[in-house]
Amino acid sequence: MRWAIISDIHANFQALETVLRKADSVGWDRMICLGDIVGYGADPNGCVELVSARCEVTIMGNHDAAALGITDTSRFSIPARESTQWTAAQLSAENRRYLGALPYSAEFGSFEIVHSTPEDPPAWHYLMTEFDAAALYDSFGKNLLFFGHTHVACVFQRTAGGAVSQLEPQSFPPADGSRYIINAGSVGQPRDGDPRASFALLDTDRKQVEFYREEYDIELAQRRIIDAGLPRILATRLSHGS
Ligand code: ZN
Repeated sequence: MRWAIISDIHANFQALETVLRKADSVGWDRMICLGDIVGYGADPNGCVELVSARCEVTIMGNHDAAALGITDTSRFSIPARESTQWTAAQLSAENRRYLGALPYSAEFGSFEIVHSTPEDPPAWHYLMTEFDAAALYDSFGKNLLFFGHTHVACVFQRTAGGAVSQLEPQSFPPADGSRYIINAGSVGQPRDGDPRASFALLDTDRKQVEFYREEYDIELAQRRIIDAGLPRILATRLSHGS
């Protein structure tokens, strides 16, 4: 079984289309989304419709919840708050209903998914470091946990002996006895210095986690943001992967 795992699309239709085309070309059986379909970008409805058509399971992200008015945005930056208000006004009734029905986490045979962290998903904590990761291994039961939220593709490994370390986000075979916390990176707004769209694939037959980075039409995504009247910084940051 090949699971395509996408996350943090952020209403970037150009990045989403590119990632789906790449996923189709390498092959997948089931596709899932780790949340934040909307927020920041200029195509919230188009992205919700494409994700809901392709993904078997999608979970709630903080920007999805914010656009629905069901999470606190007081800690959002000013551009994030402006884009939340714009997104809320844009979303169709049907897409609001779809987002409102999303769960905060999900479990499959060999892995679990959450947008932020597994101990309290709606608190929207950020998992950034080995220290953060080490504190979370008791909060989920499977050997693999995929998450989003930070927009930084990364891998944390805890060996059978209990040592936790951060690995490069490159394709790897999960080792027997180890447990992993994996960020698939962001489709629509990467923040790891690499502006290319990011996604991951889990192949449970070959026992392999794969990472992909794809160039997409950043200029068009930027023009859409500016034409929509959204804060300019949301366009310019796409060039830097920041
Ligand atoms: Zn996000």
